[in-house]
Amino acid sequence: MGRRALTLRDLTSEAASEGELRERIVRELGSEFQSCFRCLRCTSGCTSMKLLELRPHFVMNMVKLGLVEELISSGIVWTCALCLKCEERCPQEVSPSELITLLRNFSFQREENVPEAYLKVVSSVLETGFIQEPMEVVSREFEEFTRESLGLPRLVGPREAFSENLIELMTREAG
Ligand code: SF4
Ligand code: SF4
Repeated sequence: MGRRALTLRDLTSEAASEGELRERIVRELGSEFQSCFRCLRCTSGCTSMKLLELRPHFVMNMVKLGLVEELISSGIVWTCALCLKCEERCPQEVSPSELITLLRNFSFQREENVPEAYLKVVSSVLETGFIQEPMEVVSREFEEFTRESLGLPRLVGPREAFSENLIELMTREAG
């Protein structure tokens, strides 16, 4: 019998209730997170701000105001490129990218606004061990290549323990 496709709910069955979100953020990011004084240095250097209107200082402020639900449902946290420039630029040694990663975890737990492409990558890694299955490619001269035609060995999928360990890790990270 084939393996049942995993849903996000399977991966994160111990998702926190909504009321615990802000408490968890404070617990995980500690007093550093509270010391943002909105100087905007993070936003002025943000890679995603130019194209996608992500404003890390705004994310920080919304969480401080307790507007975590609004952030998660807006889907804005998925526009972060995780370049860590905001963390490097912050005079208070606060990390908006860490906060954004945490908010993504919440979003993932609730299966809310998680981009399709991200889910595909997670699913592919669990099933095959790779972010994307081997594909046929076409050269500029319209020649088609596969691993086989290039004499490369067939890729072997992960052992069962790999998927189990990864699910455990993801659940722990998100929990
Ligand atoms: S750079 Fe740091 S202190 Fe300034 S707004 Fe961004 S997170 Fe807050
Ligand atoms: S990590 Fe995200 S929020 Fe921080 S500067 Fe890069 S794109 Fe912007």
